[in-house]
Order: sequence, then C-alpha cells, then structure tokens
Amino acid sequence: MSALLLRRARLRSAVRDVLVVGGRVLAIADDLRAGAPGLPELPSPVEVVDLDGATLLPGLQDAHVHLEQWAAARRRIDVSTAGSATEAAAMVAAAVHATPVGPGAVVVGHGFRDALWSQPPEAALLDELLPGVPVVVSSGDLHTAWCSTAAVQRFGLSGGVVLEQEAMDLMSRAAALDPAVLDAWVLEATEAAAARGVTALVDFEYGDLVTSWARRAALRPGGPAVRVRTAVWVDRLEQVVAAGLRSGDPLPGVTDPVAAERLRMGPLKLFVDGSLGTRTAFCTHPYPGATGPDAHGLLRTPLPELERLLRRAGSAGLDLAVHAIGDRATAIALDGFAAAGVTGRIEHAQQVCAEDLPRFAELGVVASIQPRHALDDRDAADQHWAGATGRSFPYGALVAAGAEVVLGSDAPVAPLDPWDGLASAVHRSLDGRPAWHPEHHLDLEVALAAASGGRRAVRVGDPADLVVVAEPPSAVLARDGAGGLRTTEVLGTLVAGRFTHRATALT
Ligand SMILES: [Zn+2]
Repeated sequence: MSALLLRRARLRSAVRDVLVVGGRVLAIADDLRAGAPGLPELPSPVEVVDLDGATLLPGLQDAHVHLEQWAAARRRIDVSTAGSATEAAAMVAAAVHATPVGPGAVVVGHGFRDALWSQPPEAALLDELLPGVPVVVSSGDLHTAWCSTAAVQRFGLSGGVVLEQEAMDLMSRAAALDPAVLDAWVLEATEAAAARGVTALVDFEYGDLVTSWARRAALRPGGPAVRVRTAVWVDRLEQVVAAGLRSGDPLPGVTDPVAAERLRMGPLKLFVDGSLGTRTAFCTHPYPGATGPDAHGLLRTPLPELERLLRRAGSAGLDLAVHAIGDRATAIALDGFAAAGVTGRIEHAQQVCAEDLPRFAELGVVASIQPRHALDDRDAADQHWAGATGRSFPYGALVAAGAEVVLGSDAPVAPLDPWDGLASAVHRSLDGRPAWHPEHHLDLEVALAAASGGRRAVRVGDPADLVVVAEPPSAVLARDGAGGLRTTEVLGTLVAGRFTHRATALT
C-alpha cells in the first residue's frame, strides 16, 4: 500500500494537507507531516508533493465518449489557418515532430483552403519536411487531397494532388487504421484526457469493447490513464448476458491489477431516436416543411421493445443508457424506465417537455448531457426546432426539477475536455453573440458537481480521484469569463492516488 501526502492543497475554504493511502483520502488536516492522532501507522516512505496553495478538486468525469473515433480525430492535423502551401506543410511537420507517429503510420491532416494561395500544394513540400512519411491532407471542402510521395506510392494515386472521387476514396482508406496503431492512439487519448483532469469516462464506442480493452490493457502498465466503463450495444447484449458480465465488474482477461481496477463493464446503450443534425430526433412538433411518416423524426425503438430490452439488461445487472434527443423520444425513454421498473441514464435529453422534467427525479433517471452541443447546435435548433427552443438543451430546468445531471463531451462530436463542457454549461455562447437561452445555463458549482460524479468537495473516505488546478475555477470564471475556464491549467491528476498527469510544477 502506498501513501501520498499532498501538502498545502487549497480546498473549498482553506489550505490543508491531504493524505492519500491505498487509493483513498485518509485524512485532511492543517498539517499532516507528523501524522495525526488516531491515524494508523503509515506505510513508509510517504511520498510528499507540495501543492503550494494550488486548488484540489474531485476528479472530472466524461459520461459520454466514443474513444476510438476521438483518438483518430484528434490525430488529424488541423491546417485550416494556413495562408500558403509552405505554411500548411510546416504545420503538418510541426505536429508530427510534437507527437511522433509509429513507423509506417499515415499522417492525416485536414482543412486547407488553397483558393487564394500563390503557389499550389505539391508533394515535394511535404517530402522535404517529412521524408518517407505518408502524409494525406484533405481540403476544407473534402474535394481535394494533397499527399506526400510516400502516400502516393502507398495508395497508388495518380499524383500528389488528387480531386473529387479519388480524393474522397483516399480519405476513407487513409483513415482506416491498423488496430495496433489505433490501440496506441486510444491509450494516448486517455493520457491527453488525464492531462485535462479527467479521471473516469464511459466509452460508448461501437464493437466488442470488452475484447479491445483487454488487449489494450496489456500494452501499457496500468492500462489506460483514466477509469473506463465500457458500454455494450444492443447487438451484443445477449453475448454479455451469457458471459455473466454485470456493470461494475472487472473486464475478463485483464491481469494487470491497476488496469483491472480502472477497466470496468459499463452500461447497455440503446437508441430511441436519431439526432437534431439529421432531423431524425423524434419530436412532438414536425420539422418545418417536413411531411410524411418521418416528419416528426425517427422512432428507432418503440416503447414495448424498449421496455423488453430494459428489463432484460436490468435483470442481468447492467446499467442502462438510453439515447433520446427529441422531446417525444425523451418521454418514451422515461416511459420505458417506468414500465420496466428500472432506472438509468438518458443520453443527451436535448429536448424535454415541461411535464417530463420532474419525472427524471421521480424515476431516479439521470440526465447525461453534453453542454457544448447546445452551443454548436444553437443555429440548427433555431431552424429545425423553431418554436421549441425554450425546452431545448434545458439544463437549468432539469436541475431546477431535481434531476441528477452528469456532463460529457460525446467526443469526437465535441472535444474530450471537461473544461470545455463546464464553460459551455455556465455560459451558453461560443462567440460574441448573446448567450442562447441563458435561463438554461448551470451555475458553476452545479456544473462542477455534475462533471465530478456528484462530488462537490474532496472528503475523507473518497476515492483519491483528484485534480489539481492552478486557481479555483470560480476565480478564473470571475476574472476571465467562460473562455478562461475553457483553458484552465491542470497541474496534476490522480486516479486512486496515482498520478496520471503531473506537470513539472508538481515534481
Ligand atoms: Zn455519442
């Protein structure tokens, strides 16, 4: 058992010492250097880290991630701001030098706009800076791909710049990854999440996550840098039930004890409807101008089938995560939980009728929300949900009605960064425009608790899933607004008392 003394940590009101033993917070007091009365004898040596007044918070959680897709998306290099081909090539090279890729891996960039460039893109520019590396960069409109010579050879292309169908085919081939490369990227993505203060997430990636996470756990001591709960989709429900896997169980095949602690079976995931962007979210009001059977969106799982699946998975010991975006879908999801006599989470809950708001608390159903979506989708909602935006992304109303709320990113839809979600929850604007339906914002304290699994403070007995930030978030918000919150500096992150991220200031 290891012991860690975090000296001079700023807690809610005072600067204190925090002692972590066996993965839990054992004591909090003014000065614990000499132990404290009533404490058991400590294992030695005790590692001491002086936080020097930095703020210690409960670890942050991301309740909704598609980790493989995020791991791939975050490796695509953004060259959208390049003013010339030379500049774009330099941006790609700088990104590769900052985060080297495995041998033979394809480097994928995106977003160049060459209409006003004085010189056209050509393979030689990439070859010069990244000799022998296969590089594929797609244009902002996806109709052009610019490639290095190694990529031209790898994919048998007609030249260093290819257009239209050849470009589109190339992008789907270049994005298809060797599983070993993807595994490495996923583990790196967990490190990047830890560097933003994340200690736990729910992975809603498709496929056989039990197998892929058991494989990844063997690749690195301790496995991922965050706790991961692996969701199972309906198509694999019977397989998981037959294997006797219940939510919270360790994943079979994981032998490393630290990884076994971090990797746990998660919830069943199923869909009631589609999405706002594709106008398939199932709503009481028809989409403007839409006619026919799908004018209100798409009901993917009707109530009787939903009830059956919830009963089946619930009685097998699985947590339940039901995707519902439109207000009718949300009502059906709540009906499903009530009919099956189980509880769980509604993923997204982007539109909720007033009469359904109190049902979350009554049924014990958690609203799993992604605050950044409200900002990214405000214009789409104004258009497609015209007249219904007062009940759209209704975070404030859910909290006021007593619903438990948890925050997530839905990465890659939004960045896997809890500070982005927190900033989006407290101030519903990304640009200079006035906040969109500000009545549905969350207060910072509420948002922080929702991002921390309900924990509002660091307390004795809690798991030592902790994050160290330079300043109290309330001070950052007061001084720099939501933008400042978004770029919060994270000095350290601990999972069960082990550092998963440690800035040089803490060494
Ligand atoms: Zn999702």
